[in-house]
Amino acid sequence: MKIIFLGTNGWYDTATGNTISILVETTKAYIVFDAGNGLYKLDRFIQIRKPVYLFLSHLHLDHIIGLHTLAKLNLPQGMHIVVPKQLKKELQRFMRRPLTVPFNKLPFCRVKLQSYHKMIKAPFSIKSYRLNHPSPCWGYRLYADGKVLAYGPDTGLCSNLFKLAKQADVYISESSWLPGETHQGWTHLNPELAAGVAKQAQVKRLILTHFDASRYTTLAHRRRAELVAKKIFKNTIAAEDNQEMNI
Ligand SMILES: [Zn+2]
Ligand SMILES: [Zn+2]
Repeated sequence: MKIIFLGTNGWYDTATGNTISILVETTKAYIVFDAGNGLYKLDRFIQIRKPVYLFLSHLHLDHIIGLHTLAKLNLPQGMHIVVPKQLKKELQRFMRRPLTVPFNKLPFCRVKLQSYHKMIKAPFSIKSYRLNHPSPCWGYRLYADGKVLAYGPDTGLCSNLFKLAKQADVYISESSWLPGETHQGWTHLNPELAAGVAKQAQVKRLILTHFDASRYTTLAHRRRAELVAKKIFKNTIAAEDNQEMNI
């Protein structure tokens, strides 16, 4: 299993990177988590004609704005876009003229929007977990190539986050806030909270991403987050755009 970080920012693009999108290459499929602006790089990394599945966590714009770039992607095999059924209608309201090219008018013309609960016959298995965020948000736990990858997008601490991450080979967590920062009623994580989940859930590796662009203004801020998190959970990495990792 190979992970490629197409975008690692939260909220907006800056010199540190694009908004969030993660490509996971498995033996039988390409799986993409979220469609921030990093999504435009997808066809750089998709070399083989394996099926492509895109899972969306929620509809905040930094997680879907890259859908506007679908029209430039050249993917002859098309793409399955999978969302929790609660989000399907709202997503279709976004993917329409005059805002962008609707799914059924895309040049590669094989985008299929599916509700998560109806997804069948994928060459991997996946579970979704509702998380704690003002915009309804789901994390995904992927089982493929004998490994478990947990993706924890925008969320505050909640019991489902621990279930999502439980003993995963790799846990990819948001890290929106700076070390030491917390806010009442604004549900995100800082590096220490993410590391605490990794430790308690006994994962093998923690990767931090979705760094708030207004707080993490340089990559040095991410290195500091990594150091702080490592004190709680040693096997931690702060991701950067275009970084590739084999698991
Ligand atoms: Zn976000
Ligand atoms: Zn969000």
